[in-house]
Amino acid sequence: MRTLPLGTEPTVVKRPTLDVERTMVGLDRSEIMGRLRRIGIPEKQIKMRTTQVWHWVYYRGVKSFDEMLNVSKDMREKLEDNFTIGRPEIIEALVSKDGTRKWLMKFPDGNEVETVFIPDETRDRGTLCVSSQVGCTLTCKFCHTGTQRLVRNLTPAEIVMQFLVARDHLGEWPTPSEGRVLSSVVMMGMGEPLYNFDNVKKALKIIMDEQGISLSRRRITLSTSGVVPEMKRCGEELGVNLAVSLHAVNNAVRDEIMPINKKYPLEELLAACRDYPGAKASRRITFEYVMLKDINDSEEDARNLVRLLREYDIHGKVNLIPFNPWPGSDYQRSDEEQIKKFSTYVFDQGISAPIRAPRGEDILAACGQLKSESEKMRKSDRLKQQKQSEISS
Ligand code: SF4
Repeated sequence: MRTLPLGTEPTVVKRPTLDVERTMVGLDRSEIMGRLRRIGIPEKQIKMRTTQVWHWVYYRGVKSFDEMLNVSKDMREKLEDNFTIGRPEIIEALVSKDGTRKWLMKFPDGNEVETVFIPDETRDRGTLCVSSQVGCTLTCKFCHTGTQRLVRNLTPAEIVMQFLVARDHLGEWPTPSEGRVLSSVVMMGMGEPLYNFDNVKKALKIIMDEQGISLSRRRITLSTSGVVPEMKRCGEELGVNLAVSLHAVNNAVRDEIMPINKKYPLEELLAACRDYPGAKASRRITFEYVMLKDINDSEEDARNLVRLLREYDIHGKVNLIPFNPWPGSDYQRSDEEQIKKFSTYVFDQGISAPIRAPRGEDILAACGQLKSESEKMRKSDRLKQQKQSEISS
C-alpha cells in the first residue's frame, strides 16, 4: 500500500477483505434477523439482538464482534464464526495538501473503487463522494471513469463500506450528535447511481437510519447524468437532493460530450428536473457544469443556460467546475477569465453559479484516475514478472 505523507495521515491497518456473502454490513433489519435465526438465536431474542448488532455496527462502527460488549460471549463467538463486519482492503490512502482524502478500496473479487472526502475551507466538515458502480457504461467524454468499462454494480454493503472506511479514517465513531466532520454525502463517484438504484437506495436508507449513522436526507445528494425515467423514483422513494450533470445547453454539444443525451435529450431532462418531487420547496436541484474550453463556455452558452432554467421554471443552482485534465483527455480547462465571466453573467441573472475550487489536484483528482493508475501499475508489475521468468527459463 502506498500513502502520501501529507496532512494528518491516518494509521492504515490492512484489514481482512470484505466477504459479501458473510458480511453483516449492508443488510436491513429483517435480513439481520434472518441471519441471526440461521445461527440459532432464540426467537424471543431476535429483535433485541438485531438492535444490538445495528447499534454496534452503525452507531459505534466496530470492526469485530468481540467489541460488542453487551452481547454474551457465546453469541459473540457464534457471530464471529459465521459473519464478518471487517472492511475492504485499502489499496491506496492518499491525503492532499488541501486536506482532500482519497481511498482506493478492493473487494474480494479483485474489483476496486474510489471514494473521496473533500473538506470545506475550514476543514472542520466535509463531503464524502461515494461510488455506485465499478466503472461506468456512460462514456461521458470529459470523465476519466467513462474510459473504464463497466464491470458491475456495487452491492449495498460495498456502498455503505465506503462510508464506514471514511469514518474510520476520520476517527468519527461513535456517531457524533453534532459537529460532524463527515457532514454530507454525494453519490457522485464512479458510476451512474440511477443505473444501480435499488442497491443505492438500500445503502442510503442505512446511512440515513436514526439509530446508526443518522445522516439527514438533506445532507445527501444523488448525482445523475440524466437517467430521466428513474429521477422521479429517487425523489419519491429516497427524498434526497438531486444533482444533474448538465454540462451543455444544447442537444448537439450534449450529444457529443454525454452520449446519454441521445437517449434522454435536454427537453426531457429539464422537464424531469422541473417535476422532481420537492424541487419547488426545499430540494433545490444543483446543475453540475464542467467548463471545457471552446466547447460549452461561451457567453451564448451562459445566456442559453439562464434561458433554459427560466423556460422550465427550475429554481436551481449551477456549480461551475473547472475541468480537471487527465492524460489522454480531449479537452482543456476553460480560461479563468472566461469561467469568471460565465459565472458573473449567471449570477447577475439571479441564479447562483459559484466556481468550484479544484481540490486534491496532487492526488490524481480526476474521478477514476487512481483506479486506472493502480491497474497500470499492476499490469507493469505483471509484465516485469513475465519478463523475468522468461529470462530465467
Ligand atoms: S460522468 Fe458519471 S455517468 Fe458520465 S462517465 Fe463519468 S461516472 Fe459515468
